[in-house]
Amino acid sequence: MFTVNKDYLSLRGSYLFAEISGKVNEYKAENPGREIISLGIGDVTRPLTPTVINALHEAVESQKTPEGFKGYAPDLGYDFLRKAIAENDYLRYGCDIESDEIFVSDGAKSDSGNIQEIFGRDNIIAVCDPVYPVYVDSNVMAGRTGSFDESTGKWSDIIYLPCTAENGFSPGLPSKTPDIIYICSPNNPTGTAMNREELQKWVDYANENHSVIIYDAAYEAYITEKDIPHSIYECRGAKNAAIEIRSFSKNAGFTGVRLGFTVVPKALKSADGIYLYDLWKRRHGTKFNGAPYIQQRAGYAVYSKEGQKEIRENVAYYMENARLIREGLVKMGYEVYGGINAPYIWLKTPDAMTSWEFFEKLLKNANVVGTPGSGFGPSGEHYFRLTAFGKHDDTKEALRRIGKM
Ligand code: PLP
Repeated sequence: MFTVNKDYLSLRGSYLFAEISGKVNEYKAENPGREIISLGIGDVTRPLTPTVINALHEAVESQKTPEGFKGYAPDLGYDFLRKAIAENDYLRYGCDIESDEIFVSDGAKSDSGNIQEIFGRDNIIAVCDPVYPVYVDSNVMAGRTGSFDESTGKWSDIIYLPCTAENGFSPGLPSKTPDIIYICSPNNPTGTAMNREELQKWVDYANENHSVIIYDAAYEAYITEKDIPHSIYECRGAKNAAIEIRSFSKNAGFTGVRLGFTVVPKALKSADGIYLYDLWKRRHGTKFNGAPYIQQRAGYAVYSKEGQKEIRENVAYYMENARLIREGLVKMGYEVYGGINAPYIWLKTPDAMTSWEFFEKLLKNANVVGTPGSGFGPSGEHYFRLTAFGKHDDTKEALRRIGKM
């Protein structure tokens, strides 16, 4: 007789976006013919760029011949891609990261969910609140979060780092020391980003306390301001304190193609001297058979001159939406944050409405879908997320409808 992993039974509700699409589908069924505009889920709408498409075609063609055919990929990634990543994403910013410290994967969701496997079950995690749900849920699955308190919406064993308008969405240091600290910058969902000084403060804290930072930089391509670091390794001492996770989803539109990577510096070790690089390498080799050659060729093309130009154009397209949403909402009198270094706009719900009340109002009165802030954590209550990933026309129409609400 088999039993199940009881930790899975502790998970709260359904995955946030499944819950939202359930509500939207219900509304559509009751109101056929309504044209719904989604500014909810963080998926891109621009197609893959010509350089990426050519690389995909070429890689597929190469599979026709015995010389070109590729079977299993090296499980840590092909050297051509790892070198391009090291040069373009790290050396260019003065970060001394070597290509073999880069682990290519099928995306940042897998890596941010799986990385906790290499840490002890009794480790205490700290998360920013609100937070990308994967960090918490993957630790719930690992039995690391204690019990859930319905009245506060918090897990007993998690250290929450509130990020609200009051602290400029940059969390203060906790009074109790966590072992693992999740930081996402530029941030999903608040759309804000940590500056160099704030991030250095966390790196110093991690080094002083022997904590590790798991730094999710999936939105790095959206940084526009000079004092926002592109990588945590721009901070002094970060190679001894941080793992960095990246994605090709939001910069190059690979949400369907799937490609990402994680940097685990060779210097990073636990207090008892165990190197995290060795553990992650072992884990990757055992549970992952390498990202497909075809995808890795497409990822490599993103770093070509033309590839870079094209993705910058796409990012600029989305950031123009961000500007439209931000400025449009401000004009309507909303309190608005984010949208300058990230494709997310985080607004305060009007009239002290709860996040879900505002969700319903927006859906019913404007036929626009957004994401309730409380779905990202207790400090997200009374906030609401809109994304800049829509088409220009849809974004403008959504704003027009919100203005008439
Ligand atoms: N990390 C953050 C903070 C995200 O918001 C997302 C997707 O929305 C991901 C990771 C997932 O990235 P990927 O598509 O590479 O799995």
